[in-house]
Amino acid sequence: MPYSEDDLLPLSALQHLLFCPRQCALIHIEQAWQENLFTAQGRLMHERVDQTGRESRKDVKIEYGMPLRCLRLGLIGKADVVEFHKMDSEGGWRPFPVEYKRGKQKKENWDKVQLCAQALCLEEMLGRAVPAGALFYGKNRRRQDVLFSDELRRESEDAALQLHELIAAGRTPAPVYTKRCDSCSFYELCLPRLLEKKRKVESYLDQAYELDSQKFCFYVLKYCLPKHMDKIQ
Ligand code: SF4
Repeated sequence: MPYSEDDLLPLSALQHLLFCPRQCALIHIEQAWQENLFTAQGRLMHERVDQTGRESRKDVKIEYGMPLRCLRLGLIGKADVVEFHKMDSEGGWRPFPVEYKRGKQKKENWDKVQLCAQALCLEEMLGRAVPAGALFYGKNRRRQDVLFSDELRRESEDAALQLHELIAAGRTPAPVYTKRCDSCSFYELCLPRLLEKKRKVESYLDQAYELDSQKFCFYVLKYCLPKHMDKIQ
């Protein structure tokens, strides 16, 4: 069943979710936002390409800051750039989303999933197939073409579903320290190592308390109510 307009979630949240569900919940449930060097660079880069407008070249029309929406996946957002490539055989224009990213190509699929979700939005909005797009990386100024395979499409759909489940549950997951935390703008707020230790100590204390309670019952039965002891031994 399609989502309603009120249930749409930001497309950019898919990246946050894939990077760390706790970070996603801190931003989109608790409305917290922490900026660090990486996010500031990303923001500046997007501000540069975030203008709306159009450009036309011979076989390509370019749309900047194009609004996107997909009711099937419950997503809303904006594409940095959508190129429309002229198709000789069919005489139409094929949409080709291009997303600008700070840094360089990642080994994980996060950027591709977000780009593919943009393609799914375009397909729903324009009723046209969007078989490919591209990611442009600021650090090495490389453009990487991305094919929207069935597998990548499924990954994007699954991520959208997980995002809706996380937001609907309204609970921020507990921190789990990984190497990603070192580049996370929420590190100081999240304190993943400290909270993880605290959780371990609490669980140790719970277990110790549980053992002590069992020992206490045993002593009561043995020394205060010895007759009942036969029944449980
Ligand atoms: S510091 Fe680590 S656990 Fe906390 S939000 Fe960032 S990535 Fe997630």
